[in-house]
Amino acid sequence: MAITDITGFIRPNITKLVPYSSARDEYSGNDAVLMDANENPYNAPFNRYPDPLQRKLKQEISNISGVNTRNLFLGNGSDEAIDLLIRAFCNPGIDNIIVIDPTYGMYEVCAKINDVQVIKVLLNNDFSLDPEKVLSSASENSKIIFLCSPNNPTSNLLKESDILEIIERFNGIVVIDEAYIDFSGTKGILPFLPDHKNMVILRTFSKAWGLAGIRLGMAMADYEIITVLNKIKYPYNVNNLSQELALKSIKKMKLKEKWVKSVLEERNIMARSLELLEIVQTVYHSDANFLLVRFTNAKSLYDYLRQQKFIVRDRSKVSLCSGCLRITIGTRYENRELIKHIRNFNNKSKNNKQS
Ligand SMILES: *Cc1c(COP(=O)(O)O)cnc(C)c1O
Repeated sequence: MAITDITGFIRPNITKLVPYSSARDEYSGNDAVLMDANENPYNAPFNRYPDPLQRKLKQEISNISGVNTRNLFLGNGSDEAIDLLIRAFCNPGIDNIIVIDPTYGMYEVCAKINDVQVIKVLLNNDFSLDPEKVLSSASENSKIIFLCSPNNPTSNLLKESDILEIIERFNGIVVIDEAYIDFSGTKGILPFLPDHKNMVILRTFSKAWGLAGIRLGMAMADYEIITVLNKIKYPYNVNNLSQELALKSIKKMKLKEKWVKSVLEERNIMARSLELLEIVQTVYHSDANFLLVRFTNAKSLYDYLRQQKFIVRDRSKVSLCSGCLRITIGTRYENRELIKHIRNFNNKSKNNKQS
């Protein structure tokens, strides 16, 4: 039942929509006198609106990823792509999306803002995916399935064959959020993109690239889907400064690779140090730049760390994550200091027990 055409899934009002045409859509050169957009002629280069389709940046991303520029959408963080996908495909008050549970919170928040229902499918106890369970939870109003691999907060890659089975059998759009893929040591699901019309991959500059502050994320998908996203986005959604800085960062890709390598080394050291402590029940296998760790007393450890001005993420209220804190890998120094504090807390709890 592989999908060959997604146009039928687009909301009718979006199909009919005549998009805002921005002043720069008709001209892509850079030697013209620009008197079309009511910009201030002074204060170059900040006086000019950015390229609405980010052509230069997309070309560079295309060069390093092998994805054709036609198959790239850039947005104000991948969060923008999540929101636009829901608005393009889900009719408010009627349609729903399917998410795995636990997962990244923005899929649900964006859906609810748009009055789109959310169906949650619990992961297996080992955080793996049950494709049958995901597919059978779909109704005829289910328009998008959001998968996240490596998943946040569980930190594991989903199995490639499980993801592909869902893409091939679901009668709708399947989004695979690969925000953490650089830390996984795999290429992710990208090699399968050309064969699937209903598949969207999300990537971001916020994690491995170290650019969370510039808000730049991307969607990779069939041209039909990219076209819809471009049609409904704000015309100038990625500002000039972000485009410029991303271009510079891509030229220094070796630096990114160095950061990733160091984070992975530190992740393994941190995991091994934590495993030795009595208060640690489980350090889950991680394919990302964070560790999910089950402690015997997560809440009091969390409070203790906060007193020491070390902020980690309390995930103990999240499905399948009772007693768990999520710890982002920091610099070598930060990691050592965190471990010191956790060790102190561990020894205090041990002494309390003995006395
Ligand atoms: C951090 C994160 C993102 C990044 O979102 P941006 O808007 O690009 O910063 C996306 N997905 C997941 C699962 C994340 O954890």
